[in-house]
Amino acid sequence: MNVPRPLNAALWCISQGWYVHLLIPGGKIPPRGCDRCYRGTPDKPNPEYIEHTADDCPCIPAGRWCHGVRAATNNPETVERWCHHLQDAGIAVAMKPSKLLILDVDSHDIQKPESGDCLPGLQLPPDLNPDSIRDGWDTMGLLCGIRNAPLPTVAPPTMCAATPGGGVQIWYQTDDTWRQSTSRLGWQLDVKAGWAYGICPGTVTSKGVYRAIGDSRSVAPLPNWLAADLKRTGHHQTPEAEQPRQSAKQLLAGLQRPKGAEYVNAAIRAEVERVVTAQSGTRNDTVNAAGRALGRFIPGGLVTETEVENLLVAAAVSAGLPGGEARAAVRSGIKIGINKGRAA
Ligand SMILES: [Zn+2]
Ligand SMILES: [Zn+2]
Repeated sequence: MNVPRPLNAALWCISQGWYVHLLIPGGKIPPRGCDRCYRGTPDKPNPEYIEHTADDCPCIPAGRWCHGVRAATNNPETVERWCHHLQDAGIAVAMKPSKLLILDVDSHDIQKPESGDCLPGLQLPPDLNPDSIRDGWDTMGLLCGIRNAPLPTVAPPTMCAATPGGGVQIWYQTDDTWRQSTSRLGWQLDVKAGWAYGICPGTVTSKGVYRAIGDSRSVAPLPNWLAADLKRTGHHQTPEAEQPRQSAKQLLAGLQRPKGAEYVNAAIRAEVERVVTAQSGTRNDTVNAAGRALGRFIPGGLVTETEVENLLVAAAVSAGLPGGEARAAVRSGIKIGINKGRAA
């Protein structure tokens, strides 16, 4: 029988103890879920969609790929069935259940932070020429210099992949729970962790191939010095820090609305779920969109502004956004939503 190449990659990942899911052929996003689970787009909502969360979804235990990374599995038969169903799919690895973290060193041609602060919270060498920092490699080199640590691509030997965009992804194993982030550790240094996924080397996208580089195909433990800097920059998710996620759920469990307005609860549940599972890079937009969506109900008195704000901030914080940033994104969304609600 013809074994699809992505299946080999997926089975290899499972043999490493990881959880995998598919990506659409040529793309970087998971395939859409079944009609019951697929929400549609803002322009074209799916009328068959039924409000629910990944935690409550029967499709996942049934071995379907609904809800993207949340459906990641270590069951070889499930993955084999998926790969035969979706030829030429990409393979993604779910960070959280696989106990992995990826350090993503980018070299995008983008503006540096206004403050020039390419390593937030660190005292930079006084003789540093700011123009010498041109991309994530320079930021990384600077951090390693300050820490007197080897470049992560050098030691310890671990699996590294070149991305089609010119970045390098460095894979680590870790028993701790970490948050994903964009440029919080340093400018153009991103962290994939928690319910984020890494793209398995060998995956082909329309922009090119994720290619394993270097000699190591095994994944090293996260070096202590890097773990310390991740902790310092707020990436460590202690059991206490996970609390907001649970309390968001608890709040949702207690939601009550007058008869005839239960649809507001459904909307709240859906938006909170969407925010909690938002991926780094789209989180701010997702939080803002959730504020807009729920803000519309405020002028009619179907929900209070405080209730919406607190729920969405709790959800955004549990998705890894810093509290202040989360509140700002929620408030600006709510404001627009309220205006829309008044105009309606
Ligand atoms: Zn489904
Ligand atoms: Zn579902």
